[in-house]
Amino acid sequence: MKGEKYNMKISFLGANRLVSGSCYLIQTKYKKFLIDCGLFRGNELISRLNYTPFSFRPEEIDFVILTHAHIDHSGRIPQLYKEGFEGNVYCTKPTMELCSIMLPDSGQIQEEDAEEENQRRLRSGEPFIEPLYSIEDALDSLLLFRAVPYQYKVHIDENISFRFQDAGHVLGSSSIELWIREGGKECKWLFSGDIGRKNKPFLRNPQRIKEADYVVIESTYGARKHRPYRKEVKKFFSIIDKTLKRGGDVIIPAFALQRSQDIIYELGQYYNLQVKPLKGKDKRLKKLRFYLDSPLAIAATKIYRNNTQDFARMNLKIMEKGNQLLDFQPLRLTRTSKASKRISRSKRRKIIISASGMCDGGRIQYHLRDNLWNEKSSIIFVGYQAEGTLGRKIVSGEKSLDIMEEMIDIKAEIYHLDGFSSHADQDELLWWLKGLKEKPKKVFIVHGEKQESEVFAKCIKEKLSIDTHIPAIGQTLLLQDNQIIYQGLIKDGNKETKLDEIARSIGKIKRKFSLLLTDMEYSGLELDREILVNKIKKQLEQLQGDIKQVKKLIQENEIEV
Ligand SMILES: [Zn+2]
Repeated sequence: MKGEKYNMKISFLGANRLVSGSCYLIQTKYKKFLIDCGLFRGNELISRLNYTPFSFRPEEIDFVILTHAHIDHSGRIPQLYKEGFEGNVYCTKPTMELCSIMLPDSGQIQEEDAEEENQRRLRSGEPFIEPLYSIEDALDSLLLFRAVPYQYKVHIDENISFRFQDAGHVLGSSSIELWIREGGKECKWLFSGDIGRKNKPFLRNPQRIKEADYVVIESTYGARKHRPYRKEVKKFFSIIDKTLKRGGDVIIPAFALQRSQDIIYELGQYYNLQVKPLKGKDKRLKKLRFYLDSPLAIAATKIYRNNTQDFARMNLKIMEKGNQLLDFQPLRLTRTSKASKRISRSKRRKIIISASGMCDGGRIQYHLRDNLWNEKSSIIFVGYQAEGTLGRKIVSGEKSLDIMEEMIDIKAEIYHLDGFSSHADQDELLWWLKGLKEKPKKVFIVHGEKQESEVFAKCIKEKLSIDTHIPAIGQTLLLQDNQIIYQGLIKDGNKETKLDEIARSIGKIKRKFSLLLTDMEYSGLELDREILVNKIKKQLEQLQGDIKQVKKLIQENEIEV
């Protein structure tokens, strides 16, 4: 339009000088949208950021473009929905499927955390807190998800379009190419998402993009280099060999998404190449069992097996020959906790993959209790162990630990192999950036601890001569006719009145009723009347509470009517 200026704003609302809480708000003249909406994870100070209100009104967000299913990128979508967001969430099909298990699982954790906190508050007489969101909120929010294939350009309207490119980090992960036209001028942004590694098994290499005006890139390992993957796998196999020879078991704590599948893939290779040929000669190996003991990892593995279209071409050839990539004969999936407890009692030699990856909860704790004291067993850590977690205590060499209220001496052999990471290291990040044919105007560095981002910024400047900026959390940039104008920080979040809060709550109840009606329409006679009646009762009670609040506010003359 004549006389109009290019005028867009981007706000960095998470994962700035941090590795979690990814969220970028983009505002143009006609639209407001988010790239990712992830949970903050880490120490108490960082986790508390999840409880600060969004610095925008969720109901005003038109849509979300989601890079991948990891909870630090997707985990606040149910909260966004709970607080009034009703737009589409665009992502790839595997990301949508993985979110359908990850988000309800996160809802369950939120409910359990709130319950534990409320037990404490009950004793100290403090008011109760609500969970960040519930399993139900998470399930309901999934209705907003829309799957888009890689390489397919989506035109939101005549001014905004985007395209997903494979980022090779986890199944379905993407980088986002984003075109924004304003005042007759077009500008292209590139959001890296989390970038994977080159030449890792079964996923494709990250796709490099040829052009962009501005780039927002992650820097998780911006200052480091990984040990070569194949070397790490060799070491992994030799630890397993040694452990089995001395009659011990192998315990591998692993994250449900990607790391568990990487390990299953490698164990499949181990079985086919090193166990199968010896089975007839070595009795011990005959009875060897492999267990995947985590309901979330089992569900994720199923999704991987159903999405082989996104595996690297090399693997498709292997599969054509009838070989399964994420399954092999002695692999057992233990779904129930009863079956899980039976594993430890079995006399067979075994290799167990279990969650959580940092050992601060979940079934892994049983396996640690049953194996840490045994000098014949090995515990192999294949992922990052954050400070304060049980995993960190074990890898840092503690001699005895309290596990499930039992003091356990640590005599098993402990290994920490960090070469299994699914994040690109410094060289791989630079390789990805070098895919750009022309230098971008600026590279914004996000998703890294302060030091990693700073080292990486220096490295880009020195090796590629590109200008960089490391945004602070809450910083907004205004892009006006190709000029970047740095604006201040958003500090106070979204200050809303009590009435706004009530209006949102009533809007939410309205949406729940419409979902219930859809349920009734489609499930017919199979619908459990009792569940439905209870749900309606609960919603009506909440509505009554809200109406009371409105009355009170009117009486207090807070609102002019
Ligand atoms: Zn990730």
